[in-house]
Amino acid sequence: MAIDKIWVLAESADGKPTTITLELLTAARSLAGTVEAVGWGDIASCAATLGEYGATTLHDVGDLAGSLPGVPVAAAMAAAIQAGDAPDAILIPATYDGRDVAGRLSVRLDRPVLTNVVGLAAVDGGLETEHAIFGGAQVAKARFTGDGPGLFVVRAKSFAAEASGGGPAAVSPLAVPDTGASGSARVLARHVEERTGPKLDEADVVVSGGRGLGDKDHYAMIEELAGLLKGAPGASRAIVDAGWVPYAYQVGQTGKTVKPTVYLACGISGATQHLVGMKGSKNIVAINKDQDAPIFSVADLGVVGDVHKVVPKLIEAIKARS
Ligand SMILES: Cc1cc2nc3c(=O)[nH]c(=O)nc-3n(C[C@H](O)[C@H](O)[C@H](O)COP(=O)(O)OP(=O)(O)OC[C@H]3O[C@@H](n4cnc5c(N)ncnc54)[C@H](O)[C@@H]3O)c2cc1C
Repeated sequence: MAIDKIWVLAESADGKPTTITLELLTAARSLAGTVEAVGWGDIASCAATLGEYGATTLHDVGDLAGSLPGVPVAAAMAAAIQAGDAPDAILIPATYDGRDVAGRLSVRLDRPVLTNVVGLAAVDGGLETEHAIFGGAQVAKARFTGDGPGLFVVRAKSFAAEASGGGPAAVSPLAVPDTGASGSARVLARHVEERTGPKLDEADVVVSGGRGLGDKDHYAMIEELAGLLKGAPGASRAIVDAGWVPYAYQVGQTGKTVKPTVYLACGISGATQHLVGMKGSKNIVAINKDQDAPIFSVADLGVVGDVHKVVPKLIEAIKARS
């Protein structure tokens, strides 16, 4: 199966393509001659940026009139593919809507899906995927052997987003066929999580706290330090499970993948499931009282000490400089 054309499922938020959409377009550009995007809602207003990152065409499913995207978007894509406009591969963000579209598209096309993809390479005319397994300790490789299109659900931060300088993508409407009763679910309300600083998975600095903080109230110093560094606060799963912070703060295998310029781990042991979500950070600083803690195996700078002493000193020093 030669890879001539790839579709990327494009998502937008606040009138801009999401970062993972731009990451997938960048990856697709290096793998196929033609890259096209498929999106919905206000995606047409993103045609210029999608083009800058490599999409020549934007297939626009349009306004979904309050529907959950999964049903109409998968139906529209499947209908176009069955009518003959089939790409060789479809890259889908590992997001709630992306996973929904992937599952439904898989059923409609009777094609399997490769999920949790963290790497993609063109090998022998097809695509070879990489999947982090055993908490990121091993990498498994896979590829499709049957007919296309191959469906790939890709995790955020698997690729760096880089613009190529292309012109705006040409917008082409993609019709939604009748979806019957399955299309009747409606979005009634949206809850936007309150946040003051940058988003965890887009922040340049991430300060994460773990069980070593001792109790919930001590997490306030993590938030203060993150704020002073204009970064985002993060967490290990241990303190999310303990109810100290919401799940949206969790970094790791079952949380968010982050790749900031600086990742500061405070009182985190460095279990493989945590490391897989942050070891791609450019500079890792760890504070832990146990000099044998596994977090030090990935740290560029390790401080063997008590978080309750080191973090307040750090806060004091930063305040003294500003
Ligand atoms: C399927 C699966 C998925 C998982 N997914 C994730 C995930 O996405 N993210 C994640 O984080 N975990 C995940 N986990 C859990 C993971 O295995 C660990 O249990 C968890 O990361 C531990 O969190 P922690 O480092 O905060 O706590 P601990 O492992 O208890 O470590 C606390 C650390 O704090 C240090 N410490 C204690 N007191 C102090 C002090 N005063 N000053 C300095 N250091 C101190 C200790 O030396 C220790 O190293 C997953 C587990 C499973 C099985």
